[in-house]
Amino acid sequence: MIIAIDGPSGAGKSTVAKAVAKRLGFSCLDTGAMYRAVAWRALADGVALDDAEGLGRIAREREVSFVHEPGDPMPKGVAIDGADVSTAIRTAEIDRAVSPVSAVAAVREALVAQQRRIGRSGDYVVEGRDIGTAVFPEASVKVFLTASAEERAHRRVRQNVDRGVGSIDYGEVLADIRRRDDIDSSRAASPLKPAEDAVRLDSTGRYIEDVIDDICALARQ
Ligand code: C5P
Repeated sequence: MIIAIDGPSGAGKSTVAKAVAKRLGFSCLDTGAMYRAVAWRALADGVALDDAEGLGRIAREREVSFVHEPGDPMPKGVAIDGADVSTAIRTAEIDRAVSPVSAVAAVREALVAQQRRIGRSGDYVVEGRDIGTAVFPEASVKVFLTASAEERAHRRVRQNVDRGVGSIDYGEVLADIRRRDDIDSSRAASPLKPAEDAVRLDSTGRYIEDVIDDICALARQ
């Protein structure tokens, strides 16, 4: 069974996806982390963000994998070519680089194929931008989770502090979120938009626990 959770960055997808997966005994697949890992590799290798061929090659040839504690179905991080980049992909630099990287059709093709392989191996909560529309259009439950840009920026600032990757400026984060929303929803390849049959949930001003309850209830229907 697949539960697809799509939505813009900072809407609470990661927190909600992990909690729903834990409650239902599912695994969790963070597809944004895969695009971030490819963006990290591109910056590390000096591949230009407008070099579609070079970016596509990274996505096809470098192995993106998830880091697990033995026996725990919930991944604790992501690696590329065996290098654990879980913390390195959460910087403002990667935030800026990841949208152009994920707009490249060849990058999406390679990562979507891998996401399908992973998702079909068991019960998964899969979070991203195009899960309900393109990766798993047959998903049993599809949720499109949103929140206002301001609330999402506040959450991102808090999340970085919690993750111990340093503090970031609220104004910069808000501007970046708006820029990424624009790129993600206007790109030609799999633009960010709700699937026709997705349930739309707005987490602005709501307790995250209530959103988690809503999604678990949908999964049990
Ligand atoms: O979810 P997260 O903010 O980590 O995603 C990082 C970026 O990866 C997004 O801004 C988006 O450009 C891209 N992405 C995507 N398709 C997905 C998941 C993420 O294009 N399924």
